[in-house]
Amino acid sequence: MALRFVIIGGGPAGTQAATTAARLGAEVTLIERDIIGGAANLWDCIPSKAMIATGGQLMQLRHTTDMGLNAGAAQLDLVALRGRIEGIVDALQAGNRRLLESQGVNMVKGTGRIFDQQTVLATTAEGDLTFEADAIMVSTGSRPRIPDWAAPDGDRVLTTRDAYPPKELPEHLIVIGSGVTGVEFVHMFSSFGSKVTLIVSRQQVLPSKDPEVAAELENDFLRRGVSLFKGARAVGLDHTEDGGIAVRCDDGRVARGSHALLAIGSIPNVEGVGLDKVGVEMNGSWVKSLDHHLRTNVPHIYVAGDVSGKLPLASVASMQGRKIAEHVMGLHKVDHRHIDYEKAASAIFTEPEIADVGLAEADAFAEGRKVRVTKVPFVSLAKALINDDPRGFVKIISDPATGVVLGGSIVGQHAAELISVIALAVTASLRVNDIAESLFVHPALAEALAEAAE
Ligand SMILES: Cc1cc2nc3c(=O)[nH]c(=O)nc-3n(C[C@H](O)[C@H](O)[C@H](O)COP(=O)(O)OP(=O)(O)OC[C@H]3O[C@@H](n4cnc5c(N)ncnc54)[C@H](O)[C@@H]3O)c2cc1C
Repeated sequence: MALRFVIIGGGPAGTQAATTAARLGAEVTLIERDIIGGAANLWDCIPSKAMIATGGQLMQLRHTTDMGLNAGAAQLDLVALRGRIEGIVDALQAGNRRLLESQGVNMVKGTGRIFDQQTVLATTAEGDLTFEADAIMVSTGSRPRIPDWAAPDGDRVLTTRDAYPPKELPEHLIVIGSGVTGVEFVHMFSSFGSKVTLIVSRQQVLPSKDPEVAAELENDFLRRGVSLFKGARAVGLDHTEDGGIAVRCDDGRVARGSHALLAIGSIPNVEGVGLDKVGVEMNGSWVKSLDHHLRTNVPHIYVAGDVSGKLPLASVASMQGRKIAEHVMGLHKVDHRHIDYEKAASAIFTEPEIADVGLAEADAFAEGRKVRVTKVPFVSLAKALINDDPRGFVKIISDPATGVVLGGSIVGQHAAELISVIALAVTASLRVNDIAESLFVHPALAEALAEAAE
């Protein structure tokens, strides 16, 4: 009899685990209460990047004269934009469903919960269904964290999930939180033409990033007229008499605008999933301990994606789903490469785009580690001039003794694509010479990688 694998939550982790396990011969049931593809497709990665793509086009159209064109005035159409996002989400969901169907995955629309260690229950529109399981994976994702001093109403006080797009374009948006999500929303709405204020709790936007990288973004925000409230933590939010919003900060300052958007992190969806009921040890909303196969203390129950508390990225969630499915199917008994979260590439889809992977220069210096840092600005590159965007740089960090690439950062056009070369080098322990001796295309932005590797 085939191994019975039941997955609760059909985001990147759940869908990847389902296809991998089905391909390897498992009998797979995937329970999803919303859409196949998950919050990643419905609320997070995809709609945010679709909005950013539209904002990017709008900004380009406003600067066509720099490219020797006169294209007239471009207007944002919120209804058309909403339709475009829905179209992308539908197309991705249809593709995911086709793939899962073709592999014989049993997709169940409903809310799943672990009933006992061998049984998962799905509450569906047609009633409750039960599924016997030899292995169970919980990949129920996360949702925006709401502080007790704010009450999102989907109108003036928004979470990221109310913003695709909002009912009206904010005249003045106050973004609370300056991590990756916060800065992407600053960029998005400022490119649409909204005035934006960003509340930055530290002295640097993107506090966990290389200061040089964060400085490029801050300069761009300031150039675009974004107001930065640095070193200020939001502690209260009031509706004002004129229909606006006032955000109170702990240093006494008050940011005033027409709308506020909360971007202060996420919390895992574990309530009612039943992990604690079947003996999985919890520490609040998080699973207390996970081994490197992402197994809980109940060895046939795994967690993946944002609920695992590792790196909250769709790419990481998919990789976790794949590794778990392979482990469930017995592939990792001898040869297993653990996921090295430090080697995950990540990107921030602002303008300029930002991407990094592996060791950061600031972290190397903080650890007192000897590294070689080479940096090439895009301004020296033909393709950057042709594209009329010479902002940013490529930075490669390598081991001075061996030349092995340890990490890198890129700021500039297509950084999210270009970082793949450094990510491959970091994962495969390639040397800078391996990059320098590759024959890249000319003219191309990738030439900066070869130059930085020399
Ligand atoms: C605004 C924003 C933008 C982001 N952009 C990016 C990006 O560009 N790139 C990137 O890599 N990451 C991005 N992320 C992070 C990324 O979205 C998450 O890391 C990723 O979605 C996690 O995948 P997952 O499989 O854990 O779960 P999710 O994608 O959250 O999916 C979980 C699914 O489980 C379902 N579910 C929950 N409970 C139950 C239940 N009891 N029964 C049945 N189904 C259930 C939910 O309906 C959901 O569909 C972004 C996050 C945010 C907030």
